[in-house]
Amino acid sequence: MTVYLDYQSSKPVDPRVVNAMNPYFNETFGNPSSLHSAGDKATEALDKSRSKIAGLIKAESDEIIFTSGATESNNLALIGYALKNKGKGEYIIISETEHISIHNTAKFLMKSGFEVSKVPVDHYGQVHLNKIRERLTDDTLLVSIGYASNEVGTVQPIKEIGRLCRERGIAFHTDAVAAEGLLSLDVNKDFVDLMTLSSNDIYGPKGLGVLYVRKGIKLMPQIIGGGQENGIRSGTENLPAIAGMARAAEIVMQEREQEAKKLQSFRDRLIKEILENIPRSFLNGHPEKRLPNNAHFRFDGIEGESLLLSLNDKEIAVSTGSACSSKTLEPSHTLIAMGLLHEEAHGSLELSIGRFTKESDIDSVIKALPEVVDRLRKLSPIY
Ligand code: PMP
Repeated sequence: MTVYLDYQSSKPVDPRVVNAMNPYFNETFGNPSSLHSAGDKATEALDKSRSKIAGLIKAESDEIIFTSGATESNNLALIGYALKNKGKGEYIIISETEHISIHNTAKFLMKSGFEVSKVPVDHYGQVHLNKIRERLTDDTLLVSIGYASNEVGTVQPIKEIGRLCRERGIAFHTDAVAAEGLLSLDVNKDFVDLMTLSSNDIYGPKGLGVLYVRKGIKLMPQIIGGGQENGIRSGTENLPAIAGMARAAEIVMQEREQEAKKLQSFRDRLIKEILENIPRSFLNGHPEKRLPNNAHFRFDGIEGESLLLSLNDKEIAVSTGSACSSKTLEPSHTLIAMGLLHEEAHGSLELSIGRFTKESDIDSVIKALPEVVDRLRKLSPIY
């Protein structure tokens, strides 16, 4: 039986979500753009789903734009905003630890003439408000800072950043994928103008994302066609997935607080016992301001990949960092930005837990990890 501790990379779809999706494959399968009653039924389901998803972040229904996933939402937020609002300025601020889809989109915008500045993070992976403040200029167009790190779990001071941007009249985007389902999100209290969400990160199906777009914020569409989604993102809506994400959002609204408490107690046990039982092991990320599902370690003298493969032999699935870029041999840009040496970054391991994690899963990894670390260190010429 596999112990799955890689929820950050991918989550199973909740069976309640699968049930909610089922009618939309071959019962309510009309196109919401059609004028007949099958189309009306689909429109009704689409509207209801949009409203539930809006509720998760305290937004209005017509501020929710469906996309194919968080990557597309991040592209639409940055490119769509930059191109539409070019007259307001050409300067964009992100952080050193953004998801690769933000980094590479920013790189693309730089090639198109925009200037991008990356604010540094501290040793815990936190962005400091003064670092953003000192970079704001009269031609700053957009600030994009992720709500929390998908790698080390550090939560950013989003409300303070949002307030600063609002005071200066600068649009603020946050990729909230790592935090959704775990933290309470409120686009109004946090002064957010654009927010990226992903369906799978709340146990919905893959291939569906959301971009929250505050009323009054204008974007240049990146996918052109029939004018769906207020003309911002054309293409026939993926109703089964949207109905699934709506059910997933409903479950989060009902169960988030309790679930987060359970995850936090598992996380704290993992952190305590691993640091106690394994010499020269360290926690990456912030000790308190971290997501309840994330425990991220580094172990002196070992390669994270060897650790991952040895744990895999024991049927325990973990991660060495972001699955989105794990096929490269480069160390994680997040860990390097936090000031870790290359060998420290390479010796890191992420354990991310989730809705279906059991106490026995925690027991298994706490038992297996010290043995595996000890064996690999004995084989290591550098330890
Ligand atoms: N942003 C964050 C913070 C992520 O963790 C991910 C990957 N889950 C993405 C964006 C991209 O998501 P997707 O690959 O589903 O488009």
